[in-house]
Amino acid sequence: MIRLHVSDDLRAGAEIELNPGQRRYLVDVMRLGPGAEVLLFNGRDGEWRARLAGGRGAASLEVQTLARPQAGGCDLGLAVALVKRPRLETIIEKAAELGAARVRLMITERAQPIRPNVERLTAIAAEAAEQTGRMDVPAIEAPISLSSILESWPGDRFLMFCDEAGEAPPLVDALGDAPSGGWAVMIGPEGGFSAAERAAVRALPQTRPVSLGPRILRADTAAIAALSLWQAILGDWRGA
Ligand code: SAH
Repeated sequence: MIRLHVSDDLRAGAEIELNPGQRRYLVDVMRLGPGAEVLLFNGRDGEWRARLAGGRGAASLEVQTLARPQAGGCDLGLAVALVKRPRLETIIEKAAELGAARVRLMITERAQPIRPNVERLTAIAAEAAEQTGRMDVPAIEAPISLSSILESWPGDRFLMFCDEAGEAPPLVDALGDAPSGGWAVMIGPEGGFSAAERAAVRALPQTRPVSLGPRILRADTAAIAALSLWQAILGDWRGA
């Protein structure tokens, strides 16, 4: 069943106007006709069955019945340094599939000097959310400096510091006796973290340095591995 993320409020009987992109996708690409059923979600009101109304003209969707009530997502974030675009887009897509609630883009000493298109990254996250069956779309936040992120780090959120420079316990051990509650994974750029950055991150009481093994992983591999292991040890893969 096709799932579509919309921003509109969802309730029985609501009429949702499709934007040109959504209409093209449903009518031209997926070749749906009037009466065809799709699933809609907006991250707030649950997932609803809806029917396509109107022909090739201004197609709209008529909301029918609730398919699944809104479910809380995982209290899991990802803070990732700016890496080259293709890899960054992979990271956003995998973070959505792996249940990250938000992705913060970090400017670090060795981050790529790029200005990512946050709207495009959000669209990638939404498409991944549609495919993966989650009830919300991860928030993609505009790039800010590592120091700003550390200064405003929430007191109750643990920081899984993926430190490639070593001197960190294996991830399974670091999370083994971990307190429950909110976490965020932190991943550096292709050039890694500087010594000063490592010291600043480690100075935070919420920081839990972790090793992702004896090999140096690319940032996208590291993000996927760290998010997956968190889900397996503390997240919603346990109850799956
Ligand atoms: N500059 C480094 C590579 C950085 S890899 C070097 O070549 O030595 C990009 C990011 O992935 C790192 O900053 C870290 O956050 C994560 N990472 C990669 N391999 C890791 C490992 N074995 N343990 C912990 N984190 C790792």
